[in-house]
Amino acid sequence: MARHSSGSGAPSARTAASVLAQAADARAIVVLSGHVQPDADALGSTLALAEALRRQGARVLATFPDPFTLPPSLGWLPGSEGLVPSSAVPSSPDVFVSLDAASTGRLGELAGLLDAAGTSVVLDHHASNPGFGDVRLIDPEAPATVALVAGLLDELGVTLDVELATCLYAGLAADTGSFRFGNTTPETHELAARLLATGIDHAAISRRLFDSAPFGWLGLLSVVAGRAALEPDVGAGLVWTWSSSAEAAEHGLRGEQLEALVDVVRATEEADVACVLKGQDDGSWSVSLRSRGATDVARVAIALGGGGHTLAAGYTSTLDREATVAQLRTELA
Ligand code: MN
Repeated sequence: MARHSSGSGAPSARTAASVLAQAADARAIVVLSGHVQPDADALGSTLALAEALRRQGARVLATFPDPFTLPPSLGWLPGSEGLVPSSAVPSSPDVFVSLDAASTGRLGELAGLLDAAGTSVVLDHHASNPGFGDVRLIDPEAPATVALVAGLLDELGVTLDVELATCLYAGLAADTGSFRFGNTTPETHELAARLLATGIDHAAISRRLFDSAPFGWLGLLSVVAGRAALEPDVGAGLVWTWSSSAEAAEHGLRGEQLEALVDVVRATEEADVACVLKGQDDGSWSVSLRSRGATDVARVAIALGGGGHTLAAGYTSTLDREATVAQLRTELA
């Protein structure tokens, strides 16, 4: 069940839907943002709710934290051309909506709006979300933040059309691994059916999200897969490898292409936990963890300063590569 709750000092009767409905009626200024380096769920939920509130009368600004660049896999989403950089957002809007951000840190320079806005609304489905913002709709049982947004759209009386449904379907397909992960429920498929019924081109959405990469991807994949290490005695088994944004560039790829590596590595059946270390331009390692079911990688990621879901989580390490893996081994032991 969803946890509808309000932060300290907020009237307990306020729900996310009532705050947003009132904001639309009052033609209030509403700023929406997903997490830094937004994925399909963060961006899809932001764009769908932004467009819905715009139709209901709100003055809406949709943004996301710096760096303000979208990967090609997401830049085609309806409404993305209307996204504005955080520098173009008013410093104290009437309402600020945080979408798919598991912690305040994931909002980057926009985190200040949680306090600076008249009311802040937090929509999220990460198990590690500690609870922040004035009004919260945080449901770890939800397969994606777009599922929470779909429920809000129903409460707001917004009719789903191709534009809204395309954004919602992108987030739903991405966060459920195309309906393969354990977070997929009968309600997930019912929502997907409603979205398909609007006439969206779901095959084209999936191709753009999951099955499109430059030829250089094959070269990077061969290098990164070739250096993978299997450590069956660490926890329930660990398989890990590494790459970097610099290495991606050598293959003509953008850094975000590294995000897809863990989906290849996690197929390893001898290891319950898959890990990809992604070297960032600032020298830190962005660490992705996936579990095949026996390990709660959200716990591991939280212990190491990050967060996420039980079976998919991540954190950042400023140690060198070997020390980062050594720390992970200790946490998994
Ligand atoms: Mn999500």
